[in-house]
Amino acid sequence: MRVMRACKELGIPTVAVCSEADRKAFFALYADEAYVLGPSPARESYLNVDKIINVARTCGADAIHPGYGFLAENADFARRCEREGIHFIGPRSETIEAMGSKIKAREIMARAGVPTVPGTGAIENPLEAADAAKEIGYPVLIKASAGGGGIGMRVVEDRRELMHAIEHAQSTAQSAFGEPTVYIEKYVRHPRHIEFQVLGDDYGKIIHLGERECSIQRRHQKVIEESPSPIMTRELKERMAAAALRAARAVDYVNAGTVEFIYSEGNFYFLEMNTRLQVEHPITEVLTGVDLVQAQLRIAAGERLPYRQEEIQQHGWALECRVCAEDALNNFTPTPGTIRGYRSPGGIGIRVDSGVHMGYVIPPYYDSLISKLVIYGRDRKEALERTRRALFEYVILGVVTNLPFLKAVVENEDFQRGDYSTHFIEEHPELLADVERISKERSLGGIFAALKSNQAIAAISAAVSAYLAEENAQKV
Ligand code: ADP
Ligand code: ADP
Ligand code: MG
Repeated sequence: MRVMRACKELGIPTVAVCSEADRKAFFALYADEAYVLGPSPARESYLNVDKIINVARTCGADAIHPGYGFLAENADFARRCEREGIHFIGPRSETIEAMGSKIKAREIMARAGVPTVPGTGAIENPLEAADAAKEIGYPVLIKASAGGGGIGMRVVEDRRELMHAIEHAQSTAQSAFGEPTVYIEKYVRHPRHIEFQVLGDDYGKIIHLGERECSIQRRHQKVIEESPSPIMTRELKERMAAAALRAARAVDYVNAGTVEFIYSEGNFYFLEMNTRLQVEHPITEVLTGVDLVQAQLRIAAGERLPYRQEEIQQHGWALECRVCAEDALNNFTPTPGTIRGYRSPGGIGIRVDSGVHMGYVIPPYYDSLISKLVIYGRDRKEALERTRRALFEYVILGVVTNLPFLKAVVENEDFQRGDYSTHFIEEHPELLADVERISKERSLGGIFAALKSNQAIAAISAAVSAYLAEENAQKV
């Protein structure tokens, strides 16, 4: 939806590809044309390169935007597009390949003078690993070189755990990424995750669009992001931005990318570079006024970046809440199902990016993200007040969502003070009690549910679903 919205504004026709499970999804209807790739499991549809290329040939697509999941950071897919003469909307395949290996990326960055977390190269021999871990100092973190999505990381407190943890991490890496290589990094305690958005064009110009703080995480995955970072100072921003630009220049970066850093006590270290558009990109758009997807399309079409660094200014404060179908009280387990009632918040400073509607079925096969609630305020206080208001207004019935959990975080005093690290959620178990309390509080969601209009809601949602199904049946 995000990509097609940008295309629509630019007058570019769009073609969607979907799986069987997404045949009735709103994005398939929104696109000018839509094709079913195959069965619901991603391997048989969204990850099937041949099928996607076939659709592109059939419909005569000039370009493919890979989104931000699935094949978005797959160098083989990008290379295949290059060979087929289809513009891959992202960086060159060599860049994706180099940054797709965390070990290789760390080497490149260290050579370019970008600070990296103290750590090793690929672990080959367990004894070497024990020596290296001792030298780095416990606790250490075992990470998959090909890792992503927070998967395959293990904290190790002492030598006794090390061997077992390495084996475990290798097998997780093999099954999740098809590649068992792991390495060791110093485990930074109480860090903050701060990343910089960059844009580069084909003519060697690279700029940054400021930072995003993404420390509110569960399972090493982001839940709430904000910009600016509450700890940012002018001096720190200059240092970090310079490192981000050095990182991007080290690989002659083209298109939109993100340089992720881990920050602790005045020091920051390169974590990884994400060679794609990121989920949380809207907060940067809100503050800078730059449409990052339009910029991606223009860069892929060979246009020059139309901005000078000095022209990029961040105004005000923005937050993003990832609204997910998941149960915070049950270890954040996904809760796929049918959305029976839906009303998104609105009003000043609110942007909702989503592709769901009443009657929409959240399939069990993919990520549980329902929408991104993006809030703008002139300052952090206004943005937080507005976020609470928007979460109060949001109505999603039929599936358990993390809306009460998001509200609990936003109302938390430490969060309000900006005093948090990546351990925030695990260090605030009281958030779960808050979730129970908030779930019972007065909110529009609660009022809708209490109207006992479930039958009416079900009837409306059935009608919406039937209408979309019929429209899609004719098209997809
Ligand atoms: P961001 O840094 O943009 O938040 P994420 O790491 O959350 O990126 O990943 C973006 C999307 O891609 C999410 O929907 C995530 O679930 C999915 N994703 C990323 N890597 C993987 C992976 N290895 N396996 C499955 N899904 C992944
Ligand atoms: P992914 O590719 O899965 O996004 P990252 O390297 O970006 O992997 O790490 C994801 C998250 O894991 C970080 O945002 C941070 O919370 C945590 N993390 C990663 N490396 C370290 C480290 N060396 N010390 C402490 N936390 C870390
Ligand atoms: Mg990351």
